[in-house]
Amino acid sequence: MIRRIPSSRRTLELLETQELSPSVRRFVFRSVDGRAIDYLAGQWMKLYLPGGLERDYSIASAPVPEGHVGADRIELAITRVERGAGSAALFALTPGARVESLGPNGLFVREDRHRDVAALYVATGTGLAPLRAMLLDELARPETTPQVLLFGCRTEADLLYRGELEPLARTHARVRYVPTLSRPSESWAGRRGYVQAHLRELLAELGSAHVYVCGLSKMIDEVRRTLKEELGVDRRFVHTERYD
Ligand SMILES: Cc1cc2nc3c(=O)[nH]c(=O)nc-3n(C[C@H](O)[C@H](O)[C@H](O)COP(=O)(O)OP(=O)(O)OC[C@H]3O[C@@H](n4cnc5c(N)ncnc54)[C@H](O)[C@@H]3O)c2cc1C
Repeated sequence: MIRRIPSSRRTLELLETQELSPSVRRFVFRSVDGRAIDYLAGQWMKLYLPGGLERDYSIASAPVPEGHVGADRIELAITRVERGAGSAALFALTPGARVESLGPNGLFVREDRHRDVAALYVATGTGLAPLRAMLLDELARPETTPQVLLFGCRTEADLLYRGELEPLARTHARVRYVPTLSRPSESWAGRRGYVQAHLRELLAELGSAHVYVCGLSKMIDEVRRTLKEELGVDRRFVHTERYD
């Protein structure tokens, strides 16, 4: 069972932003009323943006328990979509700006009953956001199952949160960070190609795993097809969140 958290409206204030890549920006918001924002790692918020726009964004940070520093904050990682009205409105915000929100929403979470099996997180682009939240949340728990993050993007410059994920994998024996680039520079010594090309090997190593996939539909459809038709993964082990 997934713990039900009632969705509520709250006003958020933008505290800070930071470029994560040439096209992705990190936004840190705090709840203006100071209340803790209760959510499950993997869930998303609806934002009401200037111009009457409504857009949904996964929370990229792990929940902080009430009473602890940062419990009233969430972090988002947002792609600037070409000719995209919603992302343009967000990228125009400066610290101090306020937006209305509704949340948390969504069932794309790592359920407690699945935590005795390894997790394979598969993302492209800002599909990484909810998976980062799930991974950080998992590491705050006593479980010991392997946690593998397969992240696909075009170039080295698009490796979101690289400075955090590489050290995380070095310091936690159960974490593996597997970036793969579709248009790497010549000096890139890591994996190449789309995420689906690496599923067979990673799943063979894990034996059994719940697979969490997030990003645009084109990638999700490819990954689902590979898992089902080529690797025979039971659909009950596959969990997806689509951005389009
Ligand atoms: C549950 C959920 C969670 C989401 N979480 C995030 C998130 O954490 N970060 C984020 O950047 N977006 C996220 N999105 C997408 C977001 O809601 C908007 O669709 C996106 O910002 C585009 O809005 P727009 O008005 O700028 O573009 P629009 O004019 O609405 O254009 C939409 C088009 O942009 C493309 N698109 C949508 N999202 C992306 C993306 N991330 N990267 C590249 N192209 C995209 C799609 O092809 C879509 O057809 C999420 C969507 C859903 C449904």
